[in-house]
Amino acid sequence: MVSRVIPVETFDLVIFGATGDLATRKIFPGLYRRFWAGQIPPESRIIGAARSDMTPEGFREQVRKAIDEFVSTDKKDAATIDAFLGRIGYVPIDAKGTGGWDKLKAEMRPGVVSAFYFSVAPALFGDLAERLHSFEIATPESRIVVEKPFGRDLASARALNATLAAHFREEQIYRIDHYLGKETVQNLMAVRFANILFEPLWNSQYVDHVQITVAETVGVGGRGSYYDKSGAMRDMVQNHMMQLLCLIAMEPPYHFDPNAVRDEKLKVIRALDPVRPEDIVRGQYARQNGQPGYIEDSENPQSRTESYIALKVHISNWRWKGTPFYLRTGKKLRARASEIAITFREPPHSIFDDAAGWRENVLTIRLQPNEGMNLMVMIKEPGPGGMRLTQVPLDMSFAEALGEEGADIPDAYERLIMDVIRGNQTLFMRGDEVEAAWAWTDPIIGGWESSEDRPKPYDPGSSGPDDSLMLMHRDGRRWREIRE
Ligand code: NAP
Repeated sequence: MVSRVIPVETFDLVIFGATGDLATRKIFPGLYRRFWAGQIPPESRIIGAARSDMTPEGFREQVRKAIDEFVSTDKKDAATIDAFLGRIGYVPIDAKGTGGWDKLKAEMRPGVVSAFYFSVAPALFGDLAERLHSFEIATPESRIVVEKPFGRDLASARALNATLAAHFREEQIYRIDHYLGKETVQNLMAVRFANILFEPLWNSQYVDHVQITVAETVGVGGRGSYYDKSGAMRDMVQNHMMQLLCLIAMEPPYHFDPNAVRDEKLKVIRALDPVRPEDIVRGQYARQNGQPGYIEDSENPQSRTESYIALKVHISNWRWKGTPFYLRTGKKLRARASEIAITFREPPHSIFDDAAGWRENVLTIRLQPNEGMNLMVMIKEPGPGGMRLTQVPLDMSFAEALGEEGADIPDAYERLIMDVIRGNQTLFMRGDEVEAAWAWTDPIIGGWESSEDRPKPYDPGSSGPDDSLMLMHRDGRRWREIRE
């Protein structure tokens, strides 16, 4: 299959926080890869901005190092790297100060798409928005890209939305959730809405339950004190897992249009029932073989923050009443694996003996590693010996199925930045979506805070606390094995 790269319009993109970790590891290497692929017109410009006092040449050397470290060898050649670096500028700016803004303004060209990426702490979003406006750098067509976390509760998310809304229209604001930029996540929409096969079965009459797992093997060491203020619920469930849940549960939008898609996602969030305390299990990884546990990593001996959470969620609408969604995510688990598994119900009547060995159909959508889909179906076990059934996978790894193109799936950030330049907000969260997600999350977190609830310890390398197994067992179900 031939890969199609459609160039975007010429743009000026300013990266605030250009010397930071995200810019170094993801944004600049991602932009370079798109340049290498021919998607970025050569007249485009990328301007770094941060407080560090550096010349443009000094900054270009930093970007060269980032490309060296974070781009694979097959996409690197000296001429392309030099051409890319030739498009990069740098302006020292303090988001809270007044210096440098006029210089930045002089860098911006009229008549090309302008975008401003706020890759800085959210506390600075307001300052940046205000100065882009007061120094007349942003135009009514400019776009701003804001990073997570978008608030830490409903009140702060509302305040942030109001701050941005004071200077930019909603159509100009791109709230990044990099999960939405993953190939498989978008494929969820293609699978559901471009095939007749699944949609008639996509409801509580045919779906027994849904499991969403985001498992990591790393702990929080190195950024423990930052993580301790957040925890798995704020860091993963409120944003990434909520987005996955929405894409699985939403009604078909009337068109693949940003607001039509986001309207449908919002309806799902609003239909979520409050979660009962007995349907939530929180955990903290324990110390093991001299390796620090969460308490040590977070540098907070009294920490009650969860590094693991499992919860059972109900969506109160016609489509999903009666089908639970089980969500779990955690650090230091047995494997790094993210997947969505949709387990279908038993056929209404079996014509085969119990001994034939029936098992449920399961559709699995793997986000990482090895993005792809897998449908477990029953067939007859080959050979003589009567009618015995066996379960086999209809397996589709995107990398295998799509050949070269599949093996070269762009990183989520690459795709999302190109969408910003195209002016397509479909894969970005709208302000009301974010607020609705916090409105659902706040009472859950508030409940822990007021009840002295403590997370249960679990062994690093395990599947989480034993109580999370019980969450499923008591419903007569089992978690899928966490494996790569
Ligand atoms: P970081 O490594 O701490 O970098 C922060 C950047 O902001 C630096 O370039 C810093 O440069 C600049 N900065 C700090 N204060 C500033 C000011 N007053 N004016 C102008 N620039 C200032 O942070 P990061 O990890 O890159 O994260 C950036 C944003 O992305 C945060 O919102 C974070 O939550 C989000 N995020 C990061 C990741 C990740 O993997 N790193 C993942 C998801 C989301 P100077 O010191 O030179 O000013």
